[in-house]
Amino acid sequence: MELTVLGANGTYPAPGGACSGYLLRHEGFTLWMDAGHGTLSQLQLHVPVTEVDAIFLSHAHPDHFVDVYPFFYSLFPRRERPNQQVPIYGPKMVQERMCRLLTRRDGKDDFESILPWKTFEPGAVTDVGPLHLTAFESAHSCTNVCLRIEAGGSVLTYTGDTGPHESLEKAAAGADLFLCEASWLEEERSIPEPIHLRAREAGEIATRAGASHLVLTHIWPHNDMKMVREQAAAAYSGPLDLADGGNAWSI
Ligand SMILES: [Zn+2]
Ligand SMILES: [Zn+2]
Repeated sequence: MELTVLGANGTYPAPGGACSGYLLRHEGFTLWMDAGHGTLSQLQLHVPVTEVDAIFLSHAHPDHFVDVYPFFYSLFPRRERPNQQVPIYGPKMVQERMCRLLTRRDGKDDFESILPWKTFEPGAVTDVGPLHLTAFESAHSCTNVCLRIEAGGSVLTYTGDTGPHESLEKAAAGADLFLCEASWLEEERSIPEPIHLRAREAGEIATRAGASHLVLTHIWPHNDMKMVREQAAAAYSGPLDLADGGNAWSI
């Protein structure tokens, strides 16, 4: 599998940056994981829009799905693949929120004809092209899928947005690459509810899970990146990276 970061900013984009979005390519199949602000622009630096085979949306927050809207319009007038359908996998709540943006006044639903919806809630397992997907529980302010992807004997785990949850360790067990959110620093006190992870907690989960490589993402742009790295590294001794647009790894 080839993973490319389209955007890794938490909640709002940094100057020139983008919110959550990743491309995963394997055996000629392309999965777009999360479609935060700015990611469609970045995606087209790597593949044409007509080469996206499926989309995964972790949860119903705008910083993870709003670029599906321009993606729909980028496909709509195309002639190259007139019958192209790109299924979207994610929790039901994403569909409910997204379709409010896209439903036409006359009630006709062109959106579903091009982007058919596939409900994918925690506990579900499915094959998408050559990828085997398992959806794990997590702790967020709306239903979020923590995604484990297996293909070609390798494992990628992507948390989406989550606070500490016992299932994260299972989702990332033995992962070759653990793409884990690290929105907060140790000192973060602004939101009492544990809906995001601190960098140290990301490191602790990666260690307990036995992940081979930890990549931190969904980092708030105003955070001190040096501190993010230091706090994660204090709990995880393996290879550690901070995701940034354009980063790519073979898994
Ligand atoms: Zn988010
Ligand atoms: Zn969120």
